[in-house]
Amino acid sequence: AAILQHVVPEDQKTFEHCFETALHTGEFDLECGIRHPDQTRHFISAHGKVIFDDTARPVHMLGTVRDITQRRLEQEQLRTSEERMRFFFERQLVGTAITSPQKEWLHVNDALCRMLGYSCDELYGRSWEEITHPDDIAPSFARFERLIANGIDEYTTEKRFIRKDGTVVYAELSVGCVRNQDGSVAYILTLLVDVTERKYIEAKNRIANRMLAQQAEQLKAANAELSQFASVASHDLRAPLRMVTSYLGLIEKKLGPGLDAEMRQFIGFALDGTKRMDALIVGLLEYSRTGRNGAPLEPVPLSDVVRDSLTILEDTIQTAGAVVNVVPEFPVVKGDRIELIRMFQNLIGNAIKYRDANRTPEVSVGWRDDGSAWVVWVKDNGIGIDPKYFERVFAIFQRLVSPGQYEGSGIGLAVCKKAAEHCGGRIWVESVVGEGSTFLVAFPKMVPD
Ligand code: ADP
Repeated sequence: AAILQHVVPEDQKTFEHCFETALHTGEFDLECGIRHPDQTRHFISAHGKVIFDDTARPVHMLGTVRDITQRRLEQEQLRTSEERMRFFFERQLVGTAITSPQKEWLHVNDALCRMLGYSCDELYGRSWEEITHPDDIAPSFARFERLIANGIDEYTTEKRFIRKDGTVVYAELSVGCVRNQDGSVAYILTLLVDVTERKYIEAKNRIANRMLAQQAEQLKAANAELSQFASVASHDLRAPLRMVTSYLGLIEKKLGPGLDAEMRQFIGFALDGTKRMDALIVGLLEYSRTGRNGAPLEPVPLSDVVRDSLTILEDTIQTAGAVVNVVPEFPVVKGDRIELIRMFQNLIGNAIKYRDANRTPEVSVGWRDDGSAWVVWVKDNGIGIDPKYFERVFAIFQRLVSPGQYEGSGIGLAVCKKAAEHCGGRIWVESVVGEGSTFLVAFPKMVPD
């Protein structure tokens, strides 16, 4: 009883029981918690014999008592750490398997069973071979053997499994090797993540991209064919047109004074028509050639381009009495010099052509730095454009005015758009009807080679 008071309460029953038994069997073997006088808790292990006298009365007990506190603590730590591991192993959402070096299952978790569609028992009853996609067996086992033989401790890989229902699962594997102290493999830990969905999306994207590339290729071919057609057609169309023009001239000459005023007017209309048609064909030819020059783009100083365009337009500017303001310096852009001259010739030409009859035409040409692009503009105080036509003006043959008012073929801005796109830029318009329009072209800044 004197000893009993040192035993921790929860072990007192065990202690008493052991004591009783010892009196019968003559032996004792016990582990229990005790409290030291300083109140610290210790574990002891005691075992030994009971010594009886001649009348079979127990006289005393003989044995050893060892303090096993440290060992118990370590056991306890091991137990909790194992419990934690088990918890993670069972509950984690990633499929996990522990296998022997002979590829036998030691443990599998629920996530892996769910991934493969088997119950745990069903899975234990199958080999890795049976659940692996036939095409992946050889490479995946080769990797596994290398892991065991070469002393590599882990690798990641991708392989396919066959689910219970026969469907394919794509999995990403992380395989790690836990070795004994002598270097032999104790067991292999495998983490498996189902990436089937990602694989399907990737495959779908691949197909979509291939189709897109094919379509782009077809579009390119169709465009090239169309340009080729437009170029040949406009060439060939001009020859008969020239014939019509010259025969009309001959008829006029031959009939000479015999022609009455009305006939003369009809011939005049016909000649006018052929002239307009020729202008259309020339425009079409130019449109089809823009962006197809084939020569590589080169640095072009826009200062030169604007100057050259103004020289070409000199007569037009003078006749209209237009005031043209141009900033002294422009940036250098990568482009095709001839196309750029045509672009500014068209934009400045339009700015003068679509003037308001009630005021002096004023045109200004300038630019600003927009971060990644140089934005060059041509601004006028002309008739303006309704915002609903902001897109349409850049389409070929689209005109917002009638031929009687302003001459033109509706090709100029379409050419400008093609030229802007050819050098990687874009063109757009801002305008208020009755006040004027500003055409803007963004040129990507040149990156130094
Ligand atoms: P075109 O001048 O030969 O008709 P464009 O393609 O150059 O052909 O222009 C298309 C149409 O856009 C013009 O018919 C005109 O209606 C309109 N437009 C172009 N530039 C201006 C401008 N600066 N001011 C007002 N309208 C314009």
